[in-house]
Amino acid sequence: MVEMEPKLSSGEPIDVESPLTRSELTHIRCGYLSLRCWWSQLASKPPSFKHSPRCMYPEKCSYAWRLKFEGLAETEKIPFPKVDGIRRLQEVQKCLTVDPFLTKFMPETCRHNALQELQKCRENLLRQLHHHFDL
Ligand SMILES: [Zn+2]
Repeated sequence: MVEMEPKLSSGEPIDVESPLTRSELTHIRCGYLSLRCWWSQLASKPPSFKHSPRCMYPEKCSYAWRLKFEGLAETEKIPFPKVDGIRRLQEVQKCLTVDPFLTKFMPETCRHNALQELQKCRENLLRQLHHHFDL
């Protein structure tokens, strides 16, 4: 399904010979739109996380996290389309886990908690993916 994204986002027909009905194609288009919106919403504001009791500067810590997350979430360097929030989030998590800037500016527990929130987002999306295709 994700492989259809380039055609859908450019407005091309999915498949002229498609056995899908007009109504089924509408469901798919709406689902893709919903998933793109889901990603944009997440990318503009990462989920909040709990700071470690030892976190001396929670505002700076949150700022560092938001800065790196937002910079990465909107980038085209992530090799998956925005409708593929699951693989995109997985990639963001992978990059942020080893990010030297975050290692320097966030206490380990804060980083762990923040990464856990991304994991929860991914799991929620996985569980509710089919609802994006409800009309
Ligand atoms: Zn913190």
